[in-house]
Amino acid sequence: MSNFVWCHGPSCHKSHTQDRIRGVKGSKVLRTKKVAKVTQDRWTNMYSFFCSQGCYNDFANTYVREIIALHPRTEALETPINVTREKVDSRYGDYMETKIIAVDNNGG
Ligand SMILES: [Zn+2]
Repeated sequence: MSNFVWCHGPSCHKSHTQDRIRGVKGSKVLRTKKVAKVTQDRWTNMYSFFCSQGCYNDFANTYVREIIALHPRTEALETPINVTREKVDSRYGDYMETKIIAVDNNGG
């Protein structure tokens, strides 16, 4: 088992950085960077598969249609809330503020 994954950025191997240079004189290449493999699910995030925010953005922009096809949003989601208007006393003058409080449906 290897202890790394290759960065999934589609253009990772095109970034001109010294740490991507591999090979011998006359046949050098820019190579996709390695990303340390995550062994526990709770640490899994985008940096488990990408060497940088830029590579993540490249991947997302390239494959967004396929990702959306896997996880389509066919209807709006809703969060139950309570809305109140409260007067706020400020040294610059009183004003009314809208307070939005999420309603916990699970705990009663
Ligand atoms: Zn990368």
